[in-house]
Amino acid sequence: MPRASLHTIGCRLNHAETALLGDQLRRRGYELVEFGQRTDLVVVNTCSVTDNAEADCRSLIRKIRRTAPDAFVAVTGCYAQTSADVLQQMEGIDLIVGTQYKMELPRYLTSLARRPAPEILHTRTVSRDDFAIEGIGEYQETRANLKVQDGCNFMCSFCIIPFSRGHERSRRPEDILREAEGLVARGHREVVVTGVNVGRYRCDGLTLADVIRLLEAMPGLDRIRISSIEPTTISDELLERMAGPSKLCRYLHVPLQSGDDGILHAMNRRYTAQEYVRFIEKAVRTVPDLGLGTDLMVGFPGETDAAFANTRALAADLPFSYFHVFSYSPRRGTAAAKLPGAVPAATVKARSEDVCALSRAKRLKFYHRHVGQTVSVLFETRHRSGLFTGLTDNYIRVGVPANDDRSNQIRSVRLTGAMDGLAIGV
Ligand code: SF4
Repeated sequence: MPRASLHTIGCRLNHAETALLGDQLRRRGYELVEFGQRTDLVVVNTCSVTDNAEADCRSLIRKIRRTAPDAFVAVTGCYAQTSADVLQQMEGIDLIVGTQYKMELPRYLTSLARRPAPEILHTRTVSRDDFAIEGIGEYQETRANLKVQDGCNFMCSFCIIPFSRGHERSRRPEDILREAEGLVARGHREVVVTGVNVGRYRCDGLTLADVIRLLEAMPGLDRIRISSIEPTTISDELLERMAGPSKLCRYLHVPLQSGDDGILHAMNRRYTAQEYVRFIEKAVRTVPDLGLGTDLMVGFPGETDAAFANTRALAADLPFSYFHVFSYSPRRGTAAAKLPGAVPAATVKARSEDVCALSRAKRLKFYHRHVGQTVSVLFETRHRSGLFTGLTDNYIRVGVPANDDRSNQIRSVRLTGAMDGLAIGV
């Protein structure tokens, strides 16, 4: 039986796709093995969202070549789409697969004989058609990702994703339900509905709220969580569903990026700071105890001290429980890469550290607000502290002292305290 090892760099969607590729390979007779074990095939699912991500991809490929010199190496993902020419120059890659063929990669593995030069399967543009995907994601984790959408038409000026993943398109609803049923049959109780721009889901007249409604009817599925979603795409129907007695987690991760209107305009984001505030106020009013996260980008070209201060003030004011902070990195081919006003690296670093510290403080405050309450936790794994940890539906990471294995159990927990990154309960 040939052995295969799969590696992912990048976002939740990439992880969802690797999980599906793993399942496809297993069905074709491969044994899946961990990194470092002897293997015949290595699949690397790459990311191109920042310079650092691309550097990580190259370094991972070099490491694989050293640790598995005889294995066939197939490279796919966003970096393979945007920079096939760069990867082609690297030593030791046998197959480069662009976005169009990514989810069919196993079909192209007709032979695992190493090649003198990489074969390249790549198209400049990517189909806009609705799609289905073979397989059921293969996850070790408690929560499974469920890909429902791909691509993006929004063209934010800093973002390479519309180039690497193409136009927005949606997964056929019957195929979403098929995979969800398979995930539930494997014991997953929570799925994270994932895409590039999930709020833009449209297929056969159905919206994201319709997909959630269909998933809610599935026996055995206890929780549905929506991954990152653009503020302008969240419908009232979705908020009302989240607020009601529902399997839909009271959780939204809504990228803000900047709190400064000049920067938002230069980013080609589709809202002003005030519009974003109004949306968040509505969401918080509608959904009690909403767990709310956001993305912030620091160091965008032209981000003055005053512009950053606007972002910081808004991030401090709004009831976020955490932020993901990204330092701007120019991407070849994007509109922002041509903008003047580069921010010095030291300033970017200082701004990043500042808002990261604010994020930690806000998370602790959010956790403290729940101390004394009884919450429902889906347990996942044992933390290095020895506590067994899991998540509430509104994204509080909870740890309890427990000798027994609680993984994949949903239990009531009374919160007694909170520390950085972990609420403590019994
Ligand atoms: S919404 Fe903007 S940031 Fe998000 S994937 Fe689309 S272009 Fe990129």
